[in-house]
Amino acid sequence: MTRPRTACHTGCVSQPTALDRNRSVAAAFVKRVRDLNRQWHAQIEIPDRDAEQYMGARIRVDDAIRGAGQGTKTLAQQAAEWLKEPNLSSEIHALALTVVQGILVQNLLRQGQDLATLYRPFEPFIPFASLLLVCPVCGTAADGGHHLNDTTVIICPRCGGYRAAGTVLTLWEKGSLAKPDPAVLRGIVKRKRDTSTEYPVITQYDLGG
Ligand SMILES: [Zn+2]
Repeated sequence: MTRPRTACHTGCVSQPTALDRNRSVAAAFVKRVRDLNRQWHAQIEIPDRDAEQYMGARIRVDDAIRGAGQGTKTLAQQAAEWLKEPNLSSEIHALALTVVQGILVQNLLRQGQDLATLYRPFEPFIPFASLLLVCPVCGTAADGGHHLNDTTVIICPRCGGYRAAGTVLTLWEKGSLAKPDPAVLRGIVKRKRDTSTEYPVITQYDLGG
């Protein structure tokens, strides 16, 4: 669980751990909170933080962080740093911090239910499912998810940043086109991107389909 993430000199990384995935979901959440227009901040409903249900969830998450070891504790401290940047009101900041802490332990200690309770005020503005984008090729938590024409932008730490054509996503989903090895896709992405600043479109023809 606390296995360090190792990177070789070419930048490839080992299979992400659950903690790595939680960290990337937490970072995605902070980014979305930061990008939320201030007028939305005012609409986030502040729950009664002393209410039994909310307080209980918070206490269990605190306990989980304490129990989950040094890696989680360090990240929880880091989360407070990340949250300085969005310049949130103190109430929203406190809420966001509890959510980030809940995300960090969500599947390490089966805290899903507690996270749902803590997350509720943000759900109408930042649906939790939208933070869980994974690379369709390797399953690593990815950034992006927005659509450009008939492509979906996937920014994957293992495969690189690419735009998956709608047809290739469908073929992968149906299982009628084999998914490439992340290292192979990374090579294709790099070659197609060349010196462009745009993410390259990946179609089935790039993958021998
Ligand atoms: Zn990937």
